[in-house]
This record gives sequence, C-alpha cells and structure tokens, in this order.
Amino acid sequence: MHVRTLTGPLAAAALLSLPLLSGEAVAAGSPGDAAASRAAVRVLTYDASGSAEFRSAVDRGAAIWNQSVQSAQLRPATAGQRANIRVLADDGWPRALTTSLGNGTVWIGRQAVNEGYDTVRISSHELGHILGLPDRKPGPCSSLMSGSSAGTACTNPYPNAAEKAEVENDFGGSAGSSAVAEPVPVLVRD
Ligand SMILES: [Zn+2]
Repeated sequence: MHVRTLTGPLAAAALLSLPLLSGEAVAAGSPGDAAASRAAVRVLTYDASGSAEFRSAVDRGAAIWNQSVQSAQLRPATAGQRANIRVLADDGWPRALTTSLGNGTVWIGRQAVNEGYDTVRISSHELGHILGLPDRKPGPCSSLMSGSSAGTACTNPYPNAAEKAEVENDFGGSAGSSAVAEPVPVLVRD
C-alpha cells in the first residue's frame, strides 16, 4: 500500500497549534468529597469545525462514546473555547495525535474514506485513541480499535466491552486519572 509519510511536519505543526496546558474541564464534586470526586465525569470538549464533510460523522462518533462510557463525556466546544480535542479533515490516512489523556488532534483522512472505510467508525476509532486506547490489530469487526484491519465491510462504530472498560478505568478508575499520563505526544496512524 502506498503510504505517505506525514508524521514529522504534521506532528510539529499540530504541536505548535495545541495549547501548552490542557484545557480539560473537570466536573467538580463537593469540596472534600472524595467519593464524588472519583465519580466525577470528565468533560472533554471537541472542536469539529475543521472536519468539513465529516462533521456529522464526528458528532455521531462522539455520541457513541457518550452512550458507551460514563467517566468521560465529549461535548462540542462553544465558539471561541479552546477545545481538548481538535478534529480536522485532510487527504491523508486517518490518525490521532494524543498529547495527554483526553487531549489531542484527530484527522479524518479522506484516503481511507475513499478506499471505502466507514466515516463513523473512523471517527469513533480516532476518538478512542484520544480516550487512551491503542490500536488492536489485527482484530475483528466487534473491536473498534481493530480499525482498518477489520476491512472496509466493517462499519461497527461501537467499542466492545473491554474497550469501554479500559476507558472507564483510565478516566474513572480508583487510582484516579493522574495514574495515566503520557509523557510525550503520541501520533497513531489509523
Ligand atoms: Zn488507530
């Protein structure tokens, strides 16, 4: 397969445009209420204004995650708000740059769409990377993170039970979200 090497300049450009500090909003429990704090929903904003023709697919992918997990919820950023997640469209292969758990940039690449891959599955899959999930390839269509290895006939946009549990644990686990921290930005292609 023809593969375009986009990692270097794209990653650098994305890094320059990303906030130095994460802008995550945390739903606060009552002060001093440790139990409420652990159960807080982590609200992550996403800006899909640059996702062009994929905007509805991106919104669908976000909605799927919102109905799949409780510890993290994706909300459209309001105008002028610095979003946790930027979603862009381009002509490359879909990919995600995760700067920290819940923060990063997603590209909905037309190369895969043109090959026949489903736009909602792509959107949900790439958002899964931002939510901390790695690729699991090769894998079956029932796995969201099997990505393109499940083939173009696979249109499943839903995470399986293990994938949902992993996100719940990362964002709401008893160790707290601080237990999961990527020290450097990670760019995942596909
Ligand atoms: Zn992937």
